Amino acid sequence: MNSLRKKLFVGYATIVALVIGLSLFSFIELKLLEQKIVAGERSAHLFDITLEIRRFEKNYFLYRQDADLAENRAYVEQAGALLREHADLFAALGDAARVAQLQRDINHYAVLIDRHAASPSTGDVATAAQIRKLGKAIVTVAEDWARAERKNLQAQLDRHRRMLLGSVALIGLAVITIGGLLARRVLRPLKEMEQKMEAVASGRLAKLEMASDEREIESLKRAFNHVLQELEMHQGQLVHAEKLAALGTLLAGVSHELNNPLSNIATSTQILAEEIGARRGQDMAVPPADGTTNNTDAAFQRELIAQIDAETWRARRIVSALLDYARDRDFRREVLPLAQLVEDTLRLMRGQIPASIAITVQIPETLAASGDRQRLQQVLLNLVKNAADAMPDGGVLHITARLTHAACVARPPERLIFGQCVNASAAVEIEVRDNGCGMAAETLPRIFDPFFTTKDVGKGMGLGLFIVFEIVEEHGGCIAVESTIGHGTTFTIRLPLEKS
Ligand code: ADP
Repeated sequence: MNSLRKKLFVGYATIVALVIGLSLFSFIELKLLEQKIVAGERSAHLFDITLEIRRFEKNYFLYRQDADLAENRAYVEQAGALLREHADLFAALGDAARVAQLQRDINHYAVLIDRHAASPSTGDVATAAQIRKLGKAIVTVAEDWARAERKNLQAQLDRHRRMLLGSVALIGLAVITIGGLLARRVLRPLKEMEQKMEAVASGRLAKLEMASDEREIESLKRAFNHVLQELEMHQGQLVHAEKLAALGTLLAGVSHELNNPLSNIATSTQILAEEIGARRGQDMAVPPADGTTNNTDAAFQRELIAQIDAETWRARRIVSALLDYARDRDFRREVLPLAQLVEDTLRLMRGQIPASIAITVQIPETLAASGDRQRLQQVLLNLVKNAADAMPDGGVLHITARLTHAACVARPPERLIFGQCVNASAAVEIEVRDNGCGMAAETLPRIFDPFFTTKDVGKGMGLGLFIVFEIVEEHGGCIAVESTIGHGTTFTIRLPLEKS
């Protein structure tokens, strides 16, 4: 498997190797340049010596002074010694044969000078001419070398300058190319990962799926998916906790509701028992002459029995609704008559809503929503409970619903919409409106966050609206809220009729 670290290392190692290689090359070039400068100094020195030879030769021929002769000879010796000492260096300038020739010319020049000095009268003119000719030749060669060496040095300097510029350009190019390559190979998977994470965050993906042969990306992906799993698990636990809390509310309502049918059953049974007891007593005393009383009693008794039967069924319905609610079961979509659903929910909550709160429900009898009964009941329950909490001194709670064909909940400027509405041709819009304390603008965007609550410790867990949002999303719907401090709050839920 590839690794981003390896790629980064290879990239940087290549740049470092290139820089070191080019520096080494420059260093060698500088060494060569230094040698050239030394060679230039030597050839310039040789040229100077040959000029001195010629100067003292001229003086000697003009004034015949021994001192000039001695100077000339000394310089001839110096030239010879310099040539011998740096034969290799001069051979590199010209060729070895030319160096040998110059050496011979200098030696010959020395012999001629000595000869001319030994016998100034004999052969004076011819030797002098020979000396001058030879001297000129020596100066010419030395001058050629000095000039060639200067040119050489200049060429070397130019080459070095070009090379330096080339190296800088090459390093720059390498840094840009390798940097670009690394950025592409390292940043691309990270970018892709960022996009996928956003998709996961917005709910378009359940988990992070991306094929990458980079080791780091792979382990990051695994860690992210692990965190997702953990979160999902905790979320499930939270939902469960909230469900238990809601179950508590329901139980309070249920016990209140069960109380009435049960006491009715008890009363009816008592009366029936008394009636039967009394009849038996009468039967044993005097039997009725026309049978009227018996008929009235029989009708009354039937009525009582019918009442017991009805109340028993009512109690059973409540218990079965409670059991149905408590059972942890899969999402089950069905067509739900909305007015009935709201009425059932409100009945269960009756004990929880203070008498100072008036409730008005305006839902067409024929209007039906498509969804899971238990979950939608929980949504209504949480919204109604919050509305009741927001009106501690009493108020009015309106619950309305209508069929809409709009693609989304209308968005006036003061309304915040949460969730993504699935585009269905028809949807049901349920509105829960209170005229309670309302909410501040900065509170609104946070109310669906888990554990966000403004209520006192022990009063609110901050999970009610979070669950509401989850359920609405599960139905492919969305929820909007608008609120004004001191005037009240309106929640609007839009549920598509068929989940697409
Ligand atoms: P909880 O009711 O446990 O605080 P919720 O998630 O149900 O948790 O609500 C979060 C917060 O939203 C509440 O604490 C409250 O501040 C605010 N809120 C919800 N509904 C209303 C409402 N109808 N009126 C005013 N504030 C509300």
